[in-house]
Amino acid sequence: MDDKILFTKILGIKSPWFIAMVKVDEKQERVDIYVDHEENIVVRCPECNRFYSVYDHSPERTYRHLNVCQMATFIHVRLPRVNCPTHGVKQIVSDFGENGSDMTYSYEKFIIDISQECSIEAVGRLFSISWDRCWNAVERAVNRGKSRKPHAIPAKIGVDEKSFTRGHKYETIVTDIENGTVEFICDDREQKSLEAYYKQFTEKELKGVKAIAMDMWDPFIAATKAYIPDAARKIVFDRFHAMKYMLDAVDKTRKMEHKQLIESGDYSLTGTKYIWLWNKENIPEWKKEDYYALKSLDLKTSKACAIKDNLRHLWDYKYEKCMRSYFDKWYFWATHSRITPVKAAAKTLKSHIDNIVTYAKHQITNALGESINAKIEKVKRMACGFRNRAHYQTAIFFHCGGLDMYPTPPIKRCLQYRTC
Ligand SMILES: [Zn+2]
Repeated sequence: MDDKILFTKILGIKSPWFIAMVKVDEKQERVDIYVDHEENIVVRCPECNRFYSVYDHSPERTYRHLNVCQMATFIHVRLPRVNCPTHGVKQIVSDFGENGSDMTYSYEKFIIDISQECSIEAVGRLFSISWDRCWNAVERAVNRGKSRKPHAIPAKIGVDEKSFTRGHKYETIVTDIENGTVEFICDDREQKSLEAYYKQFTEKELKGVKAIAMDMWDPFIAATKAYIPDAARKIVFDRFHAMKYMLDAVDKTRKMEHKQLIESGDYSLTGTKYIWLWNKENIPEWKKEDYYALKSLDLKTSKACAIKDNLRHLWDYKYEKCMRSYFDKWYFWATHSRITPVKAAAKTLKSHIDNIVTYAKHQITNALGESINAKIEKVKRMACGFRNRAHYQTAIFFHCGGLDMYPTPPIKRCLQYRTC
């Protein structure tokens, strides 16, 4: 079979396009396909969809296409331009690849799929494309996805922060709790960071937000109270974040007590940091003996740990009233423990209790955000090439945005035979 006929079939080239020439370079493992169009055609204005005569042609463009066997394949084409009386001279919407892209629709989709699995560097190495070309495809994918995403605020949102680097740079991240997607990212974790998200929506849209899970972070609370109607009843402080206060209190207690014990030559607490922080049911089998031995000692750390373990049951209750009543008993115990870090943590929780017990009604946490966090950590690990925060944000949307990112060829043909 003739090369041109073969490639016309496998590439799905339809008249009035035709393949003018095929060059196969076995040594370079490269196939170059030159596409042209018939003379008697009209082309579609991308703005109004009307057909007009060909005005002129853009310089030849080269699209990278999927390999033919082991051979890198390139499609060369001069795209006609239209001179619409209303919209002026316009580039047609190409049948081969998106305007602004040097990849065919299929190849770009392939690069998007691979980039979901590998780092940009790895994609570059595997497919011999530069970091910039691959990154551009990722960026285009995210922009495409964002432009297709309907303008809406989810009913249940999670607000979280994520460090950008090891330094103290943070990103505010808003997630859709029900769909498990990242909705918004903004530099810093200030009130204005979160307000930038809310500002995109009308009062009526903001009213549709039913619940917001967040950490006990004052700027986020202030932003939410300023924009979400009835926020006080909708904010749910994340249970894992609340528990973290108690975990930190246990750890502080251990450190203080360990120091005192060492002074009297007692090393009971050496190497026990994580035993106290694990939930009882998560303690590995080989550590259980140590755990029970430690618990039986009359230690402040052991008492702090028991107080911490009991706080977990707060979230078992299904009604706010029951949660409050359980908390009050727990609070009495914690504040009479004579353990300073525990008392401090209990007081912090008490000052936020109104929005801890809202959990009973809304049953939301940032835990779903945690799986996103795990993905973001992966993004960070793969991200040795991130050059700035904007890249970091783009990568988060690429991996966690739940966006519809594939490029799609035009549904309507961009050129057709002239009929008269
Ligand atoms: Zn037009």
